[in-house]
Amino acid sequence: MSQPLIFELSSPGRTAFSLPELDVPEFELPEQFLRKEPPNLPEVSELQLVRHYTNLSQKNYAIDTVFYPLGSCTMKYNPKVHETIATMGQFINIHPFQSADSVQGNLQLMYELQIYLAEIAGFNAISLQPAAGAQGEFAGVLVIRAYHDDNGDTKRTKMLIPDSAHGTNPATSVMAGYDVVELPSDARGNVDLESLKKACDETTAGLMITNPNTLGLFEEHIDAVIKTVHDCGGLVYGDGANLNALMGIVRPGDLGFDVLHFNLHKTFSTPHGGGGPGSGPIGVGERLAPFLPGPIVTKDGENYNFTMPEKSIGAIKDFWGNFGMFLRTYAYIRMLGADGLRKTSENAVLNANYLRVKLGKTYPVAYDRLCMHEFVSRGNIVEGVHAVDIAKRLIDYDCHPPTMYFPLIVSEALMIEPTETESMKTLDEFVEVMEKIAQEAESNPELLHGAPHVTDHSRFDEVHAARKPKLRYIPKKG
Ligand SMILES: *Cc1c(COP(=O)(O)O)cnc(C)c1O
Repeated sequence: MSQPLIFELSSPGRTAFSLPELDVPEFELPEQFLRKEPPNLPEVSELQLVRHYTNLSQKNYAIDTVFYPLGSCTMKYNPKVHETIATMGQFINIHPFQSADSVQGNLQLMYELQIYLAEIAGFNAISLQPAAGAQGEFAGVLVIRAYHDDNGDTKRTKMLIPDSAHGTNPATSVMAGYDVVELPSDARGNVDLESLKKACDETTAGLMITNPNTLGLFEEHIDAVIKTVHDCGGLVYGDGANLNALMGIVRPGDLGFDVLHFNLHKTFSTPHGGGGPGSGPIGVGERLAPFLPGPIVTKDGENYNFTMPEKSIGAIKDFWGNFGMFLRTYAYIRMLGADGLRKTSENAVLNANYLRVKLGKTYPVAYDRLCMHEFVSRGNIVEGVHAVDIAKRLIDYDCHPPTMYFPLIVSEALMIEPTETESMKTLDEFVEVMEKIAQEAESNPELLHGAPHVTDHSRFDEVHAARKPKLRYIPKKG
């Protein structure tokens, strides 16, 4: 029995609520605030309403229900205790306009989180303000710009970005007013050093680089890359969305990165995938600390305060940033401790390599060397079958598809990131399903072209869905 749309269940006079008796004087709204026509809302019972929303929630794929190897997104399990902590009244029943002295506990938590993140990535100072990875990038690039401007170094107009980069890197550089220069990758998936050397000059503002990169590979010449950029007076921005491979093992600050963003909603186990909220704090070395977006939290004796860094680029988010994410991240870091964080990264790398080797026999790995937290295979295993067919068929086997067609430098890319929270059994089952799909690709490719078969809707016209989305159900009149 399929669930009809809620508008189709509407029956005049039915309600899902009851209001208490009026205990204040009645008040007539002025004429101009009154609706001319009643709103076109379905009239349903509480049970129908509950079914409507519960059914909607189950149409979604979630890490709480299925394996979710969506590369670059780090869809790890989010411990439920975080949700309890994130709803503790002591933390959340406050007003953002309250004075600092009345919210010392919240400020202490932010202050300590700044210290933990600085320690994990090897930086001097942290701003928790940015609300997403992309906004962290934007803030970080503005910080680089402010630094050069402060030195009167205004001819630096170029931002260098490898061709394997996430699309947000060039987008934020352009928004910050830079011209983007794309760098090719070499045969082992690193930045091509010779091209980097040629591109670096007195007009270079900096380099934005992801390490491990979006192929899941650790940049083998990272020291030389950073030195080359620094030698020409540029700064190095680290896209830290892939920090899940590095915790407790390598600190970007120690490698010489000048600024880096963290994706709390990836590495630090806060829920994402439903469109938000996110959190993308940035960390910086000593020379960029005065330019951080603010306010940041400082400690003076026993008191915590909001402080604007001396030459701050300003506020980049209203109030304090997404505080609920700070609570979850703080809990995650405290629960795991230093050893636990290291183990987390080690297991993320182990799981990815386990899959790389097992799956690579059927789905060739694009750059087949030791990977970090993810790897990129190719989906065109049989003539006429494409990455999208494999991905869609996985839905029929109750598995979220991997990231497809990214990074752009690998044709037919399937980017797979299992994360550390999956068991060996789940990984083995995934390999089994993927091998089964490979057999289907040989014996019955039509089955793959028509997939998914188990969902309410099969293939969308994805361009149309993105450009002209229909976000409202408009019921028929009468
Ligand atoms: C997710 C991601 C980003 C952007 O982060 P958002 O929080 O989605 O804005 C940037 N770079 C890489 C490599 C990513 O995986």
